[in-house]
Formats: sequence, C-alpha cells, structure tokens
Amino acid sequence: MDEPNAANGEQADPPETDAPAPFNKPTADLILRSSDRMNFRVRKAILAEASPVFEDMFTFPLPQSPDEPAGSPPVVDMAEDGHTLEGLLSLCYPIRKMPIQSLEEATILLDAARKYSMDGALTFLGDRLIDFAKAGPVRVYALATRYQLQEEVVRAAAKAFLNIYIHNAHLKSLEDLNHISASAYLRLLDYRDRCAAAAVRVFDTYTWIDSSRWCWLSCGSSGCASGCAGPFKDGRHSRLAAWWEKMMSYCRKLVLANPCGEALASRSCTAVALAEAGKCNNCRSLAPHELEGFMALLINEVDKAVAQVELDIV
Ligand SMILES: [Zn+2]
Repeated sequence: MDEPNAANGEQADPPETDAPAPFNKPTADLILRSSDRMNFRVRKAILAEASPVFEDMFTFPLPQSPDEPAGSPPVVDMAEDGHTLEGLLSLCYPIRKMPIQSLEEATILLDAARKYSMDGALTFLGDRLIDFAKAGPVRVYALATRYQLQEEVVRAAAKAFLNIYIHNAHLKSLEDLNHISASAYLRLLDYRDRCAAAAVRVFDTYTWIDSSRWCWLSCGSSGCASGCAGPFKDGRHSRLAAWWEKMMSYCRKLVLANPCGEALASRSCTAVALAEAGKCNNCRSLAPHELEGFMALLINEVDKAVAQVELDIV
C-alpha cells in the first residue's frame, strides 16, 4: 500500500486512477500513464497514425512491466499530466475534441503535440487559436510563429493586431515573446506600418468619392464651405464643408494609429461633424443619413486598401 515514507521524508506516488472514456476500454493494447498516474488505455494503431514518434516507438515490441499483471498491455510513462494527455489524445481520436479554454491551455497542448510530431493536432490547435486572435493578437502571433502553425493563424493575429494599442509594459509581461526572434516581431510591426501608410492614402486622394452625392460637397452656405479640393471621382474639384474636412482629418489620425476599418466604426467619429452640420440650414437635415452611408463607404475603402498589404511570413 502506498503511504508516505516517514523515515526518509519521501512522498509516495499518488494512487493510480483510470482515465475517462474512451480511454478506459479493456480492449486497448497500450496504457499511457500520465505524470499524475492516470492510466489512459489506448490503441497503438490510432497513436501511430497521429504521431510518427509513437509509430517509431511501436517498431519494436514494448516490454511488459514487471509490476503489471500478466497479459496486461504494456505501460508507457508520460511526462504530461492527465489533463494535458486527455486533451492531446482527444485530438488524435475520432471523438469530440476537448474545448480549449485559454491560451495557456493551448500552449501546453501545442508543446505536447510538437513533441510527438502530431501534425493534425497542431493544425487543429492552430484553428482554435484564431478564436483568441482578437483578445490576444501578439500572443497568438508569437505562438503561431513559435510552433510554425498554418499561415491563417499568423494572418488572423496580424489583422487583429491592427486594431489594438499595446503598452510596452504589457508587451514586457508577455512570456510568449521570449520564444520568437526580434525579427519575427519586427515583421508584425512592419506590417502594421505598411497598413497605416495604405490606410491614410484613402484620405489623401478623393478619386473614390462621388462629388455630386454628398451634401458637404455641394453646400453653398458661407458658414459651411471651406477650401476647394479634388479631383473627385468625376475628375472635378469641389468645395468642401469645413466640418466634413475636420472629420476626415480626425478619422485619418485614427487609422494612422489603428489601420483598419473597424477603427472608424464608433459613432464618436461623426459626433462632432454632426453637431457642426446641425448649424447649417442646408446640411442639417441631410448630414445624419448621408454621413452614415459615407462612413460605411469609408470603412470599406480603408479595409480594401489594407487588404492589399502583404504580410511577410517566414
Ligand atoms: Zn452646409
């Protein structure tokens, strides 16, 4: 019976437990024992398909453990704990996968999947990481780079990175960054810079704007009109309402900091412009509806411009 050994102060092994279904079948031909002594009864053929490391292990017969009853499947002691092993095995078996609750959990599974060269599991985990890209773009980017996951993960993380601002203090706390090179992180920053350059070009040319469609380009009120600008879509120049020009200047700053259409989705982008347009007899009734349509167009133009920017993936 396992008991603490009081004489030498060593703690005895915890008792063995059985893993949950489907890793508890008597027909199994191998037992994987986790570091916390949970026995996973598995089939070698499934493991060999999922992992060349296991396939190599099964090239030669596994020795029978002298501690196990005769006829019992061979036992392989694993470095992973029961929770990790259950997650990893669920990625190999044709069963419902364990949901990934956090990036910490994903990292542990990625580590184990890479250790056993489980390409299918790595791809599955990569797909799950995309769900975390908005909440933790730098961490997901670092994990995708470190574990050489599919390009979609890197792209999703880089895209989400465009719409956040991260303080250096926060970056310093991200342990994941310790596992990628400075040049890999620089690729992310360079992508963001090039997206910003592409996004502000939308504000520096008016050839995508129909000059006859919007009240702020046809208002003759002396209190509204400011300078002349263009060319617009039809090649003509037009007078601009000062309130619209100011709004565009504000939105330009926003996309310079966060180069994506989403950065312009807040109603605060148009709040000041609408208040000022409300002082003009011509613009007052038209501006709310027209600005709503224009902002959708603007967001689309910014997203189109940013989508043209290539992300370097090594
Ligand atoms: Zn006006």
